[in-house]
Amino acid sequence: MLHTSPKVSIFVLCLGHDCLLIGSRVFAAGLGSEVCPLCSLGAKTSLHAFRDCSDTTETLHLGGFSVSVIASCTTSIFDWLFKTAGSLSGEDFAKFLLILWNLWNRRNLWSHGVGIGVVARDSSGRILGGLAQHSPGLDSPIFVEAAAVRADLQLACE
Ligand SMILES: [Zn+2]
Repeated sequence: MLHTSPKVSIFVLCLGHDCLLIGSRVFAAGLGSEVCPLCSLGAKTSLHAFRDCSDTTETLHLGGFSVSVIASCTTSIFDWLFKTAGSLSGEDFAKFLLILWNLWNRRNLWSHGVGIGVVARDSSGRILGGLAQHSPGLDSPIFVEAAAVRADLQLACE
């Protein structure tokens, strides 16, 4: 049994069924670009995003995963996950999936930016106002926090 969070489990379920909204699907619908935004080399397929992209392989190497795990010659994301599950211990596979989930979140941040939400309340907890804004280009949690504080202060001044 894998010990992982529900978010990671749902992500893996979608990944294994190759139903994540990857760039090649978005492009097929007439939107966006098919080219990977991180390496500008491959088409944004699941296999590219999670196995073949240079950004991904570097991260997996840093996570302690060998080339034999990363560069398997499977042709589907399910086969790759299945083969990887068979070659790692349960604990290592859970770590591997957690890294993939983090890579997915980072890709989404890179591609879509982040949103900031602020709620202003009085001392009794009553909601006085709020805002939500898209903040493209923020790629670090510290910058997201700083942007949220700035938005909070702007709301307080209004
Ligand atoms: Zn790439």
